Amino acid sequence: MGFLGDIRRDYKAVFEKDPAARNGLEVVLTYPGFHAIFIHRINHILWNWHIPVFPRLISHFGRFLTGIEIHPAAKIGPGFFIDHGMGVVIGETSEVGENCLLYQEVTLGGTGKEKGKRHPTLGNNVVVGAGTKILGAITIGNNAVIGANSVILKPVPDNAICVGVPGRVTKKKIIRMTTEDGLVEVTDYFPDPMLEKLKELETKLSEMEKRLDAAEQLNKTGGRMRIHNTMTGKKEEFIPVKPGQVLMYVCGITVYDHCHIGHARSAIVFDVMRRYLKYKGFNVTYIKNFTDIDDKIINRAKQEGITWNVVAQKYIEEYYRDMENLGVAKADFEPKATEHIKEIIDIVKGLIDKGYAYEVQGDVYFEIGKFADYGKLSKRDLEDMLAGARVEVNEKKRNPMDFALWKTSKEDEPAWDSPWGPGRPGWHIECSAMSRKHLGDTFDIHGGGADLIFPHHENEIAQSEAYTGRPFVRYWVHNGFITVDKEKMSKSLNNFFTIKEILNKFDAEVIRFFLLSTHYRSPIEFSDEQLRESEVSIDRYFTTAARISDFLNQDHSSEKTGLPTGQAGPDEKLLADLLAQFHDKFAEAMDDDFNTALAIGNIFELIRVVNKYLDGKPSGVKAVELVSKTRALLTEAGNVLNIFSHTPEEWSRALMSIKCPELTEEFIMTRIRERQSARDRKDWAASDAIRKELEERGIVLEDKKEGTGWKVKIS
Ligand SMILES: [Zn+2]
Repeated sequence: MGFLGDIRRDYKAVFEKDPAARNGLEVVLTYPGFHAIFIHRINHILWNWHIPVFPRLISHFGRFLTGIEIHPAAKIGPGFFIDHGMGVVIGETSEVGENCLLYQEVTLGGTGKEKGKRHPTLGNNVVVGAGTKILGAITIGNNAVIGANSVILKPVPDNAICVGVPGRVTKKKIIRMTTEDGLVEVTDYFPDPMLEKLKELETKLSEMEKRLDAAEQLNKTGGRMRIHNTMTGKKEEFIPVKPGQVLMYVCGITVYDHCHIGHARSAIVFDVMRRYLKYKGFNVTYIKNFTDIDDKIINRAKQEGITWNVVAQKYIEEYYRDMENLGVAKADFEPKATEHIKEIIDIVKGLIDKGYAYEVQGDVYFEIGKFADYGKLSKRDLEDMLAGARVEVNEKKRNPMDFALWKTSKEDEPAWDSPWGPGRPGWHIECSAMSRKHLGDTFDIHGGGADLIFPHHENEIAQSEAYTGRPFVRYWVHNGFITVDKEKMSKSLNNFFTIKEILNKFDAEVIRFFLLSTHYRSPIEFSDEQLRESEVSIDRYFTTAARISDFLNQDHSSEKTGLPTGQAGPDEKLLADLLAQFHDKFAEAMDDDFNTALAIGNIFELIRVVNKYLDGKPSGVKAVELVSKTRALLTEAGNVLNIFSHTPEEWSRALMSIKCPELTEEFIMTRIRERQSARDRKDWAASDAIRKELEERGIVLEDKKEGTGWKVKIS
């Protein structure tokens, strides 16, 4: 294309690219961009003819006239337009393709002082925003758009949008610009770095707002907590649905037999979680249900020749007796399945309506194939499930893994009216119904033993989420198994111990301590020996508590502050430091996924240090202050963990009733008095005989300033 052809294309480009251009005369007379390119096209010919100086001079005058500086050597394709144009600089070795558009203050500049190619090359249909600098022998691809004020130091590929300093490609987008059909309005695609920065700032601000809210929330609740979520397999920061409130549901027992130590673990673990959440300042609603209708209950009733509800009632009472003896508080609500038949039927109906469940001859099954997320908690796919589960043969089911929501009752079985005829609920549906009724569609913590993850909790999720269309639970929390000789304790293996059996041999305090001294997710190996170790630890606590009481009961008001001469100070400093850190350490342990084992470790560290301190026979008000603070902190931590709930005297009596039930406190006190009178008579032989006799029967005497005390011998 020759000179005239190029000028014609440039002239047309003005109308294509500038919506303000009205008529030809205006363009020819008043468009500096058009003047600049017109001058350049003449100049470039002169340059090619090797005419000296003159082209540079014209370029120089052109700059005065237009504010645009184009080196006469620059190669510029037809259809070129410079909009506004003031301050545009195009260097000597620049090359510009067809139909390009430049805005004001664009520099197609060079780098370095070497000769040769040192300026950019623009492809066809390139748009360069105002103020942009493209420096060096850089290639800008066809159809590229460069945002305003960018500094481009690297090649830009075809069809790219490039913004920022230094310029980076944000999007690859084909911008269709053809000369024949006119140009597509490119400004619509034009990225604005300022706007993008603002958007970025906006996002950052809203993120910070969220963080502030969370921080405020943390202040209210006293710190950051992390809870292991079975769903993600990770410890997650605990953020409840409603600030300051925790909604918690734990699967309770099927009431057809006595509770065993496995039930005790779940009860104690979740009781302590609830206590700690309350201690943190949360308003906790804790639900634990009773499954009071089930095949096992019906079978037990048949065996015993009584009705199913008598069986259920009997074992609910037994459960309450066990829990009371164990020292575990009741939940806020303890709903029963049979009291929620209406809610259960509503959900089953809803699931059929929504196409998640189907009815066959009075039975209703949940069709797991319809719930895409089935298996997300237990991380199983259908094959694993089929391989791992004992699947009952049931012709009625569409898929062997489909589970019963509603079952028809046989003649002699309990039955409730339903749209599918008389029947009773399947096991899983009750928890979906009861949790929804008492806690709503979405709640914070759902707990239970690890053996409930599959299928029970998996099925709860399927039912609830399919029915409500909302997430069911935020944190899935599961406690570990109890093993006996390394085997999981279970009814089926018949290697279990009932709570009653264990309470015959050990105080409830010992059982609670034993179950909490291992992290709730770890398995616990159960044996009498382990319990005896816990008993020794608890006894150490009570011995210390008694020692602290003795110390505080003495009058220290007239004593000088500080330790007696000759006593070194490090024990005092150690105790004072430990007391100062104790709250933080305790909270740190418990905030870390309820690490009761570590929290108990901290408690025993304090016990060790205070004993050492008391060994030094401290005196004065400072000592009283430290020792009373120790007592207050031990009591506080004990209350949260529900351990150390006795007084030392109660502990001694409790131990006596288990270890030497034939003795009475009265008898021991009489023998102590008799021994005292022997000592008063200086009849050492008689006094020793009494001590020996009591020791043989399991009682140890301790002579103190205030008189003789007694303790049950441990181990
Ligand atoms: Zn449940």
